[in-house]
Amino acid sequence: MKLSTIVSFIILCLNLSCAKNKSRAPEIKYIELGDPMQMVEGATLQKSFSSPKQFQKELQNFSLGAVQIFLEEREESEIDTDIYAFNFQNVVQESQYQFEDSKDFQIEIFNDKLIWTQKQDQLGNIIFEIQSDNSLKATHMIYEGNILPLETLHSSLKDDFSAMTLLVSVDWTSTKKALIYFYYQRNDYSPYKKTFKNYNYLNPEDKSQKIRWKNPQNIKLQLCGPKIQKYRKHNERAVQDWNKLSQVNGTPFWIDLSIKIYDYPPFSDLNTQCIYLVEDYKTRGPEVKNFGTTFIPSNYNTGTIVDADIVFYQSELQKSFPNMNGINSNGESFDYVFKVVATHELGHFLGLGHQFDGEKSIMSYKHSFLHPYDEEAIVELYKD
Ligand SMILES: [Zn+2]
Repeated sequence: MKLSTIVSFIILCLNLSCAKNKSRAPEIKYIELGDPMQMVEGATLQKSFSSPKQFQKELQNFSLGAVQIFLEEREESEIDTDIYAFNFQNVVQESQYQFEDSKDFQIEIFNDKLIWTQKQDQLGNIIFEIQSDNSLKATHMIYEGNILPLETLHSSLKDDFSAMTLLVSVDWTSTKKALIYFYYQRNDYSPYKKTFKNYNYLNPEDKSQKIRWKNPQNIKLQLCGPKIQKYRKHNERAVQDWNKLSQVNGTPFWIDLSIKIYDYPPFSDLNTQCIYLVEDYKTRGPEVKNFGTTFIPSNYNTGTIVDADIVFYQSELQKSFPNMNGINSNGESFDYVFKVVATHELGHFLGLGHQFDGEKSIMSYKHSFLHPYDEEAIVELYKD
């Protein structure tokens, strides 16, 4: 069954460094129609870091891993290339080798302000203010000498202090708002694990590098929020398909899917893995269809998946079902397609990259269920 014309997936790899002296800007592009705040609708937000001393100490050890920007667009229009360039070209990631003798960020403290800056003219430079309850809250970003006010929506520190995120909202222009997701990671390094077989994992610079969950025997994943619950069965079946491969091969990975209707964090939170549904947030034009996104902040220096969350876009899915009869142009039902997309996104969630080399795989856009390639790739990833 051909899904290529109706399925477009985006995988977000949040760390782009892997080779010496190589730096590049993130390939992260996200300009959508609608209000980007829908990405965090209903989530429980934590606006400041509650243990400033511990956090302050950790700040010195972090580097900027990536930036993701969701820009509000009210109508179909030409992409504003100036804004686009501003987003991405200046975010440069240092290589793993440079981490050892360089501290990317410096901290200065003035009165109640903590100024945390990396290199000039780069995104990711933040001013924190110490709040009356002694928590630490990001209030401004510094870019090209300008101090821009921001509103912190969520602050998250990985429970082992290996990474942190800030989710903020800024006035991008006088009429547009942006939701910005900053991801920082600690400058750790561990030996590079490769597979010499022809499987594609998460690192686009070296697809053979193994990047995986640290404790894969019990990977918690939750259906977060009331909206996604109507697609519970689709996700459960997709999870079962992957877990079956674990059972059959005795490979130590397992997705433990549960439900969390209330009191759930946004996708930027590093300590909870969720599946979300965003109802009305679209990419431009009827031909582009992005049914789902898996956000995978991964540390290529340590070969670990730090966190992963899956977002489904309902209005994108509905682009393929215009006749309201539940059947798309390939004769497939909405339920069927949703499950296929869920299975694909769970492949990313577990650590698989795209498979566009002609192999039959759920990680291509052409196939609808798990193939031997998928089984072998996942077993290889977790077998030792
Ligand atoms: Zn994909």
